[in-house]
Amino acid sequence: MTTGTFDVDTARKETPGCDTVIHLNNAGASLMPQPVLDSVVGHLQLEARIGGYEAAAAASDVVEGVYSSAARLLGCSTAEIAVVDSATRAWDLAFYAIPFGRGDRILTSEAEYASNFIAYLQVAERSGVRIDVVPNDESGQLSVDRLREMIDDRVRLVSLTHVPTNGGLVNPAAEVGRVTRAAGIPFLLDACQSAGQLPLDVEAIGCDMLSLTGRKYLRGPRGTGLLYVRRELLPELRPPMLDLHAATWVSRDGYRMRDDARRFESWECNYAAKIGLGTAIDYALGWGIEPIRDRVGGLAEDLRGRLEELPGVRVRDTGLQRCGIVSCTVDGMPGDAVKAAMAERGINVSVSRAPSTRWDMEARGLPEVVRVSVHYYNTVDEIETFCLALEVAILRSGR
Ligand SMILES: *Cc1c(COP(=O)(O)O)cnc(C)c1O
Repeated sequence: MTTGTFDVDTARKETPGCDTVIHLNNAGASLMPQPVLDSVVGHLQLEARIGGYEAAAAASDVVEGVYSSAARLLGCSTAEIAVVDSATRAWDLAFYAIPFGRGDRILTSEAEYASNFIAYLQVAERSGVRIDVVPNDESGQLSVDRLREMIDDRVRLVSLTHVPTNGGLVNPAAEVGRVTRAAGIPFLLDACQSAGQLPLDVEAIGCDMLSLTGRKYLRGPRGTGLLYVRRELLPELRPPMLDLHAATWVSRDGYRMRDDARRFESWECNYAAKIGLGTAIDYALGWGIEPIRDRVGGLAEDLRGRLEELPGVRVRDTGLQRCGIVSCTVDGMPGDAVKAAMAERGINVSVSRAPSTRWDMEARGLPEVVRVSVHYYNTVDEIETFCLALEVAILRSGR
């Protein structure tokens, strides 16, 4: 296992929640580290002390710094970043800005997240676009060969979930990017679960739009998300709504949009959370995304190996490359029963159900999976404790 050099002790000391829980729900929301907590609470205290507008003015450099941090994380410029309140909203703002016409096609993946697919369906209904799901290859990742074959001049968007919400699969984003670049088709990447655990360089990937959340592997506060939009694409997109931050009312019958990606933002925001997101990105970059990837990947592989040995437990992760999300089923034990039994012992896991990733789950005949998602601050001891607790729960359930 390649987890030897990571300074786990420091990571745990800087994570107050490690004293309270065994947190294996990092794909839901990770435990915030102390510096993130301090920056959020610190700004709230400043607001309480001197006033909200005044606190924002006093922290303007820090707020600007959030864009620099995001640009460093993604390898883009600050003008290509919008800070919003969730990954879904970030994704929606980009998606609904694409001027689809009747007969246009959207190519997407089997691993697609429900909120994305619901938006495709709505736009299909409204604008008469066609949704085509690119099949997986035999490993369970999106088939890049099939994608290449499915491209024609009606394809208006390729939209892909990098890491699905329900398992360890990592879709081949950079290979998809090579195909979309060659074809000149915009590529929207949902990087919600990969941000903070896998390197995300928008040039290396070749995506044109990317959305991510703060609270998952980046360990930021809830209610934060980021949108990246490639500069060259900005003029082609029509933000679904504008306000006096996104645009200026220049005359009674005229407005001018901002010329950067902040045209997708709204004026009002949670400054404390936004500042916390910047701190979380800096904190992740401080550890290094590649060391994080290796540590998280090593722990997840260790966990998969142990789960395989438990009676009735089946690991459900697919694909060639895997990440920190481990999914499994337990014969005869519903996901909620597993979750409740673990909660009794102070262990957090979650359950992912078919309506969140319907294409994938139906293709595999799975109504639900138990999702056990590790982060770098988890330990092999914690994984052992979890596996032991699961074994006891399985025995008690009377199999
Ligand atoms: C969690 C998740 C989202 C949604 O993120 P929010 O910040 O809750 O909007 C989108 N896509 C995937 C793959 C997710 O797992």
